[in-house]
Amino acid sequence: MKSKIYILIGPPGAGKGTQAKNIASNKDFVLISTGDLLRDNVGRKTELGVIAKSYMDKGELVPTELVTKMIKANIKQNIGKNGFLFDGFPRDLSQNSLLDEMLKEFDLEVDRIIYIDVKNETIYERLTNRRICPKCKDVYHMKYNPPKKDELCDNCGEQLITRDDDKLDVIKKRLDVYHNSTQPLVDYFEKMGKITKINGEKAPKEVEAEIISNI
Ligand code: ADP
Ligand code: AMP
Repeated sequence: MKSKIYILIGPPGAGKGTQAKNIASNKDFVLISTGDLLRDNVGRKTELGVIAKSYMDKGELVPTELVTKMIKANIKQNIGKNGFLFDGFPRDLSQNSLLDEMLKEFDLEVDRIIYIDVKNETIYERLTNRRICPKCKDVYHMKYNPPKKDELCDNCGEQLITRDDDKLDVIKKRLDVYHNSTQPLVDYFEKMGKITKINGEKAPKEVEAEIISNI
């Protein structure tokens, strides 16, 4: 059977990372989060990580050829699995064309794009209070989804961190990049009739249920 291909898209802070892990495990999909993969490389100070950091810290997109190389290796490793869930990729029209090309090589195509929609005010409130676990990638919010104990991950006990790019000026830049580069891709998916819009303002469990019912 052909692997299913789903894409989670939406502005920074929409809740993609929060949803991605649960959905992938619920549907037995391989999760490919470019942000997590890049942050992993940054943490390990790999050649890719050192280059990526200089873009990520400014809120800019990492050059497409670096990201697509990383994605391709990941798809290859997992070919034949039940499905793939992409979080954070593709980010613009050119990345989408490259994804289509890569999938074609494996005789695959995108089944559906899940767009998580939130208001601008929500984005700032969410990102300025976000904490992540550098080890297991769990996502927290100090007000809406705080860890049970101090700032330690409920799942693995690791000390939570604030992302280097969750600073006001970088958040603003990331939103500009989203509007200029990713929004045209969302418009394109809408025209193709392949997008399902989800209200990301609801509680995480409700958002999750809505996404799952659409996959
Ligand atoms: P993205 O991956 O789209 O950038 P995240 O999943 O990291 O977004 O979520 C951003 C922040 O918002 C995190 O602090 C997360 O805990 C919080 N969050 C995510 N979804 C919700 C929700 N439905 N309601 C309230 N807070 C949320
Ligand atoms: P995210 O975790 O999706 O919020 O992404 C964090 C940062 O990683 C972005 O601001 C970019 O610098 C980089 N990044 C993540 N995904 C991509 C991608 N598909 N293309 C280019 N850069 C990316």
